[in-house]
Amino acid sequence: MKRSWAHIPRVAIVGGGPGGLFTAHLLERHAARPFEATVFEASERLGGKLLTARFQTLDAPYEAGAAELYDNSPVDEDPLRELVAELGLPTVAMNGGAVWLDGERVATLEDLRRRGGAPAERAFEAFDRAAHGWMGARQFYDSDVPESFADERTPALFARWLERIDDPFTRRYIERLIHSDLAAEPHQTNLRYGLQNYLMNDPAYMRLYAIEGGNERIVHELAQRQRASVKFGCALESVSAGGAGRVRLTLRTPDGPLEREFEHVVLALPLDRLAQVRFEGEPLHSDLRRHIAHYDHPAHYLRISLLFSRAPWRGAFDESFGMSERFGGACLYDESARRPEAPYGVLGWLLGGDAACEHASRSDAELIELALDALPAEFAGAREVFLEGRVQRWIGAVNAMPGGRVAAPLERRHLPCGRAGPSLHIVGDYLFDSTLNGVLESAHYVAQELAARLEQGGDRPPASPPSFESAQRGAAPLRYP
Ligand SMILES: Cc1cc2nc3c(=O)[nH]c(=O)nc-3n(C[C@H](O)[C@H](O)[C@H](O)COP(=O)(O)OP(=O)(O)OC[C@H]3O[C@@H](n4cnc5c(N)ncnc54)[C@H](O)[C@@H]3O)c2cc1C
Repeated sequence: MKRSWAHIPRVAIVGGGPGGLFTAHLLERHAARPFEATVFEASERLGGKLLTARFQTLDAPYEAGAAELYDNSPVDEDPLRELVAELGLPTVAMNGGAVWLDGERVATLEDLRRRGGAPAERAFEAFDRAAHGWMGARQFYDSDVPESFADERTPALFARWLERIDDPFTRRYIERLIHSDLAAEPHQTNLRYGLQNYLMNDPAYMRLYAIEGGNERIVHELAQRQRASVKFGCALESVSAGGAGRVRLTLRTPDGPLEREFEHVVLALPLDRLAQVRFEGEPLHSDLRRHIAHYDHPAHYLRISLLFSRAPWRGAFDESFGMSERFGGACLYDESARRPEAPYGVLGWLLGGDAACEHASRSDAELIELALDALPAEFAGAREVFLEGRVQRWIGAVNAMPGGRVAAPLERRHLPCGRAGPSLHIVGDYLFDSTLNGVLESAHYVAQELAARLEQGGDRPPASPPSFESAQRGAAPLRYP
């Protein structure tokens, strides 16, 4: 059947996590003609790794997935911050970043000197100077765009940089400071991502915040606003070429297998899930294998969340989070610091990398015991008022080297079959920096691309696709119309 302007094109968005929801939201914004969008979600809930759960003993929320949002506005516009404001969600600033070494907090340069002596201080200053020199705040903001970053041509492992720190105390401090943000070991990531995770502790580069009442509120607000229909319990199993340039999807649904063709498809899946999908026929199979291989650097998280009837650590520890050297370097969040009026206390351990993997096979009860035992001295008395613990395993769910060893141009990241191929788009945080900001940026690129295709009335590539420059952060910052 010949399609015409009267035809309402069908868009499938696979994955109801932040990536899928951002894409649906932005596509409605950008598209100048009607279309019919369906979000297919494998589970029974929207939100993916943006997950605010609740304890059973008390109706107290905790972040089981993404806990902190990154605010780039000290440098330039921040589309996530703008979206949060547009959704009318109140935010709360997060502070912290001290590192417990041998049980004592290192929060300032003075602490570092007191504990490690003058050599530690000199080594830290040299590292810090080199890191800031390698990536200024503007470059940090633009660092997902390979063209903004000349050294990207010679990618080095982050471990090589750490090895150059000649003072063992300072090396240990820096490794522990960023270990849980990396969710990987220093030899598994590149210099760009390692330094991004170090420099994000500098408020001139970015600030941290959370959504009052839970980060998952972003998902609920988006879901309420969008017109796309959502099909739960529908897991994508295979993708193949359909008729007349369409893309055929086979999904496992509660009512049995479903096969449907769409003019446009967006796969908003984490890489480990994308890798489980069958891509049938050539060149689709090879194109997607190449895409997956480029980003195949799995990283791991494990969260242990603890509920206490009160927060006896108030006064001794009043920050939103700190880094401990336990579990190879883990972040300890005081989630109740976000709601000081709450009578209870909530602490969350975020284990990353090898430690997350190694501990994943232990029982929940064992992990909760370990988490209570590992609390620093400032948390004395917490065990006596402990009520309940919860564990969430995220093995292989994030990326150790987002963007790949060498970041690819935006078109290649999002259109694995090229612009002249079928209208098959990829959205993912692993294409940028493994964050919500990154997946929003990815969704924005794809929404612009798709809107241009829709406007041209079908699956032809857009005559004037969004230029690389207009889509990148930096020279022409992303703006919502
Ligand atoms: C423990 C942890 C802490 C994190 N902390 C932060 C943080 O502090 N700040 C930050 O910015 N980011 C953080 N992140 C990363 C953040 O959660 C991700 O960037 C974000 O969730 C990516 O969204 P997504 O939609 O691409 O993927 P996901 O959130 O994984 O959503 C994908 C969706 O696709 C669905 N799905 C999977 N397979 C299929 C299939 N075959 N068919 C249909 N649907 C399918 C899933 O059920 C899920 O709903 C953290 C992640 C973890 C795990």
